[in-house]
Amino acid sequence: MSYLERARAIFDDVVQVRRKIHQNPEVAFELPETVKTVQAKLDEYGIAYQRLGDTYALVGTLGDPGKGKTILLRADMDALPMKEKSDHDFVSKNDNAHLCGHDMHAAVLLAALKLLKDDEDKLEGQIKFLFQPAEETLNGGKLMLENGILNDPAPDAGMALHMWPTAKEVGLLIPKKEVLASALNFKITVKGKGAHGAMPYSGIDPVFVGAQIVINANGIIARELPSNKGASLSMGSFNSIGGAVNIIPDTVEILGTSRSLYSESAKHMSERLPQVVDYTAKTFRAEADYVAMADVPALTNTEPFSELVKAAAEEALGSEYPVEYVDANLASEDYAHIASQLPQSCYYFVGCPLPDAEGKIYPLHNPKVLFNEEAIILGSASMAAAAVKWLEENK
Ligand SMILES: [Zn+2]
Ligand SMILES: [Zn+2]
Repeated sequence: MSYLERARAIFDDVVQVRRKIHQNPEVAFELPETVKTVQAKLDEYGIAYQRLGDTYALVGTLGDPGKGKTILLRADMDALPMKEKSDHDFVSKNDNAHLCGHDMHAAVLLAALKLLKDDEDKLEGQIKFLFQPAEETLNGGKLMLENGILNDPAPDAGMALHMWPTAKEVGLLIPKKEVLASALNFKITVKGKGAHGAMPYSGIDPVFVGAQIVINANGIIARELPSNKGASLSMGSFNSIGGAVNIIPDTVEILGTSRSLYSESAKHMSERLPQVVDYTAKTFRAEADYVAMADVPALTNTEPFSELVKAAAEEALGSEYPVEYVDANLASEDYAHIASQLPQSCYYFVGCPLPDAEGKIYPLHNPKVLFNEEAIILGSASMAAAAVKWLEENK
């Protein structure tokens, strides 16, 4: 049987796991119920696992390290703190919702592991798996590193995937090299000295200083990065704390994000932004605090690995589903923390469009987004096939 046929044969079983997780979504780092659901299925499949440190992550291995290398397969499993606005029969029971499809990812990895477990004695090396919390905070991947995901055993390569509900059709979309952008999320607090609006000279105006920071910071993009290795910078929130028509406040708070597909540019922004903030504030006698709330590298695929995944997926799926290369996307993903430490990595997308009753298709993070569950079959078949092929070709 092909991987596609085998994935189809276990679909009815794993889709129940997806729906159970979907109905009981949990967010960020604390995923007790979700982890229980995943553990129950791993137990049923006879796959051993353990918690990673004291986190709600599950890790384990399959296969024989004596026979070859180790490849890491990773799925995230956290939801978003948003209310779902759909009316299918396994809709979320609380105020959180799986609107990024991480419930689908957990089901894909479970199914892939079942396929690999059934072939365990034939594996030319070792599969290491990770069910990860807190992707949506963009800090989960880093927490995994801090808890030793790359030790005992150290993976030689890694793979992960994401659902893509706005794709034209059900199929696989594989980025050859650049995959997703870096994300530097930051908070700047400008501290001045309040004054009467008519007498600005008697205070230090943090609104004026904050405005200079916004302008100067954009100068890094315009003057310090090569135009073919660009980045974006957006300050989405700029609030004076306690100001009014005629009151200059003490403090201004600025929230923003910078993105780039290129690690060098992302690194430059991470280094230069706090400097520009500090120097600009000092120029006008104010003080500024800069905090990076998340700093995720750009996600890049190892090109020969992308080619291998495409070939393995085409073999596994036959001609039934399209398997295509796709351009990079400006979203971000905390798997990049892990991928940037691995010798090889491949991350790809599973097209999973499903129109609602009105024929509309919604994107990720939309309260009405729907996921075509067929994607679990494609995702697991391609992931298992690619992992096996990678182990065979990288002995
Ligand atoms: Zn998301
Ligand atoms: Zn996501």
